[in-house]
Amino acid sequence: MKTLFQKIADGEIPAKFVYKDDFCAAINDINPQAPTHVLLFPIEPIERLEKAEGRHAELLGHMMLCVPKIAEKCGLKDGFRVVINNGVQAGETVPHLHIHILGGRSLHWPPG
Ligand code: AMP
Repeated sequence: MKTLFQKIADGEIPAKFVYKDDFCAAINDINPQAPTHVLLFPIEPIERLEKAEGRHAELLGHMMLCVPKIAEKCGLKDGFRVVINNGVQAGETVPHLHIHILGGRSLHWPPG
């Protein structure tokens, strides 16, 4: 069964892509926690970060390098935060690895 983000990547659930290439895609979060809240996910449905394997190193590196490009595209000149929720206790709700990119307001530390 396809994950939510696979369905979005395949166009089965409509979404406006903030960014997309052959390896990953970014969409706006449906329930934004900041003025800019983008989700960047690999097209390959890695379940969560702890399920990533050595063969994913290039993909994960690619995604990390996409983050500042997406942040720049979104106008996040004053900074941004990158979050990965891994597992129930961390608040993971969609079992398809994704990077939250948050910005557009002051973000507190530590997070809740
Ligand atoms: P996480 O809780 O870390 O697994 O993040 C999942 C995120 O997906 C949450 O911030 C949700 O608001 C977001 N989300 C759920 N459904 C959709 C959707 N259809 N389109 C965009 N974002 C979604």
